[in-house]
Amino acid sequence: MDALHNIGMSNKKTTLVGGKQIEPSMIVDGFDVFELFAQKYGYTYDDIIMLPGHINFSADDVKLGSKLTKNITLNVPLVSSPMDTVTEHLMAINMALLGGIGIIHYNNTIEEQVAEVKKVKRFKNGFITDPIVLGPNNKLSDVDTIKAKYGFSGIPITDTGKIGGKLIGIVTSRDTDFIKDRSTALNEVMTTDLYTGHANCTLEEANSIMKKCKKGKLPIINDNGELIALASRDDLLKNRDFPNATKDKDNKKLLVGAALGTRETDKLRLAALSDAGVDVVILDSSQGDSVYQRDMIHFIKRNYPKIDVIGGNVVTCNQCESLIQAGVDGLRVGMGVGSICTTQEVMAVGRPQATAVFKTGIYSAQYDVPIIADGGIRTIGHIIKALSLGASSVMMGSMLAGTEEAPGDYFYKDGMRLKKYRGMGSLEAMLKGGDQRYFSETDKIKVAQGVSGSVVDKGSVRKFVPYLIQGMKHGLQDLGCDSLSKLKESVYNGNVRFEVRTTAAQVEGSVHSLFSYEKHFI
Ligand code: GDP
Ligand code: 5GP
Repeated sequence: MDALHNIGMSNKKTTLVGGKQIEPSMIVDGFDVFELFAQKYGYTYDDIIMLPGHINFSADDVKLGSKLTKNITLNVPLVSSPMDTVTEHLMAINMALLGGIGIIHYNNTIEEQVAEVKKVKRFKNGFITDPIVLGPNNKLSDVDTIKAKYGFSGIPITDTGKIGGKLIGIVTSRDTDFIKDRSTALNEVMTTDLYTGHANCTLEEANSIMKKCKKGKLPIINDNGELIALASRDDLLKNRDFPNATKDKDNKKLLVGAALGTRETDKLRLAALSDAGVDVVILDSSQGDSVYQRDMIHFIKRNYPKIDVIGGNVVTCNQCESLIQAGVDGLRVGMGVGSICTTQEVMAVGRPQATAVFKTGIYSAQYDVPIIADGGIRTIGHIIKALSLGASSVMMGSMLAGTEEAPGDYFYKDGMRLKKYRGMGSLEAMLKGGDQRYFSETDKIKVAQGVSGSVVDKGSVRKFVPYLIQGMKHGLQDLGCDSLSKLKESVYNGNVRFEVRTTAAQVEGSVHSLFSYEKHFI
């Protein structure tokens, strides 16, 4: 009777239709989530569909705030995956600006990963925190190369030729355009009479200095005269606000995560990441329920109480229990479901993702440990299904890999603009060091658990993620839920109804019967 009450059928009476006595229980739509998953099958996102609810609010009223971990809340439950073709600082900065978060991959040296984290932490909206810098002995031809490659010529000069060096000049097109000899050293042409902003200056202050001195670029320096950023007048003019940005409440810096292994050397990595200000670490393993991961969780919780730890990956309640007992603040769910992944083929282990998310979600909810649905997300519908089934956030690889902010350059193949996307357990990534997640360094024969490939250009994350967000809001509106907490409540209490889709239903539910069609993301 509870379910009937919940779906508003309680006031219906037994009636006669065509001589048949119809009981209210005979005309209930769909199944509640517990009935759905009490079958023998493991379901994928595509196997299931949710039935519409009642709409009495607008899509813009839908709230998407949700927890990433026990202590970190996101305004938008989207996370970029720690993969070397997905998340470095550009992706992490933009994901955080838009209300989600990025996790920096660790297929790199400790120094490289730390530098990526620092770039996110240093980011100030409107300032370029990693400008291209040259040294006094660089030549005009170096400026030409940069101009040809990136299109800008306003280049600060420091004594070391790097950011963090002492600022000694700036070159702009006015200094360089009319000099014929392109082997001239920059110290002969650079402007040394400099206007600068101080490290603490706000965007408004930087703007007013530039207005006053009529310059297009303003180097920002610290108390020691070292260059820490560059402000550009063009950027300030078009700078937009990001009200949903994922920020530290106290120092207003963007939040960022980093991936980590469970070896002794990872303790050094962790110490360096902690110094760089990382907010959350993900222990990156395809099978997280191991003694190594439990030991590492204990170690982090004991020594770095301010850093949240996400364990995983897990797909069963037993795995969750093991890591929750060890003290994780969040869990990453998914095994063998990533688009580039061959784990289920090679290892014969894994679980269909809808079932994995539901089971681990309900288990972990008892301990208030949020879960991240990781992998296999191909559409906005998959994101909505993951969140409905118990995920607090969703991690994406292939969805974000083709964006401008993903590492790597675009290339053309068969007339398509593409970017490389590869599994961290692919042979290619393992040769660069990605075997930490999938195998021990000492393994002589490497068995790949992923492939490398390419994905189509998706434009900028700054347009693509807002498109995902708007789609999610419409999905929740159709379900009759104006927030993610309401969605979770309505799924668990049986108000949101589910059905399994047959193969034919899945065909019917996607584009069909056309000779050709185009699919545009935005
Ligand atoms: P410039 O005046 O010749 O440096 O170039 P523009 O003003 O035409 O273009 C500068 C644009 O490139 C601005 O939007 C900057 O934010 C952007 N930009 C990104 N990275 C850098 C960088 O390292 N140096 C400079 N000068 N601009 C950058
Ligand atoms: P996608 O969003 O592309 O479907 O999946 C991304 C997820 O796949 C990542 O977050 C990670 O959990 C997983 N993954 C990344 N590389 C590999 C790999 O080489 N093998 C396997 N099994 N999983 C991978």
